[in-house]
Amino acid sequence: MNWVDLRSDTVTRPTPAMRAAMLDADVGDDVYGEDPTVNALQARLAADLGFEAGLFVPSGTQSNLLALMSHCERGDEYLVGADAHTYKFEGGGAAVLGSIQPQPIPHDVDGSLPLDKIAAAIKPVDPHFARTRLLALENTWHGRVLPIEYLRDASHFARERKLAFHLDGARLFNAAVASGCPARDIASLFDSVSICLSKGLGAPVGSVLVGSGALIEKARRWRKVAGGGWRQAGMLAAAGSYALDHHVERLAEDHARAASMAERLGQIAGIKLLGQHTNMVFIDVPAERLRELDAHLREQKVRISIGYLPTLRLVTHMDVDDEGLERTVGAFRTFFARG
Ligand SMILES: *Cc1c(COP(=O)(O)O)cnc(C)c1O
Repeated sequence: MNWVDLRSDTVTRPTPAMRAAMLDADVGDDVYGEDPTVNALQARLAADLGFEAGLFVPSGTQSNLLALMSHCERGDEYLVGADAHTYKFEGGGAAVLGSIQPQPIPHDVDGSLPLDKIAAAIKPVDPHFARTRLLALENTWHGRVLPIEYLRDASHFARERKLAFHLDGARLFNAAVASGCPARDIASLFDSVSICLSKGLGAPVGSVLVGSGALIEKARRWRKVAGGGWRQAGMLAAAGSYALDHHVERLAEDHARAASMAERLGQIAGIKLLGQHTNMVFIDVPAERLRELDAHLREQKVRISIGYLPTLRLVTHMDVDDEGLERTVGAFRTFFARG
């Protein structure tokens, strides 16, 4: 019996077909720009999303960092959600390594950053202040799909205020599949987009940053500075290309399993369903029973992230099938039935 690991969609293992594609990959030295499989992945994703160029990088954290460092200079500022990955979950990299000051903006419940709050946070041109240079959004945000009307307004706003506009699209394809709005229509509202291949798409490693040719040239330089210049990375890029060919439409299955899980967990006395968005389910359970619940789930080979808060995030992905869904719901049910 395999583990059902609901901690994140980063935990997927490459499928046999993906591994075969990796083995077959033609490779070269990517620091010289000579890896054909890397080049093909970058060109293909850039073209698909309506950009001139792409850059394959080891992680989403590095991709966002390179975007911020390529759009901004030392002493600039970026506007970002107070609960955004690019602000809160990347070790403060933009400030630490880029000398770029974050200006966090509180999110609305739907994940958007209200434009009036953004406007109020833009600094006057004056030596007292950092230079406000960029607006960064995240889609999906905690699984939520940002409304396309909001993204259009924000794009218009950013252009009007001469802010660069970056999307942390780690789960852009989840947003596209869930909303039915093509990924390209979402992405092309932005100046740059970072996409994770290693989340729901199921590749073992890697993200791609897309943008203008000039932006990506800068990002390539910063990638080298950050130690991210890699050599025969084509085997990893092959996994990414395979994921884009075969694992995008199937994200709908993860969303459907998350919806089913949410509906059934919500019926269990002791569990409070907070919401389900794309491949994420959020529930509250009694805080004093967290350890005991964790131990019970582990006995059924169900793994979740337990902290000190009563709110749990359960994430579906390629390696959670219908049997895994049933086992998860059953394990929660038996735990709360015994009171
Ligand atoms: C996972 C994630 C990232 C960073 O990706 P890593 O590859 O883990 O560095 C960035 N943004 C969001 C929204 C993410 O979920």
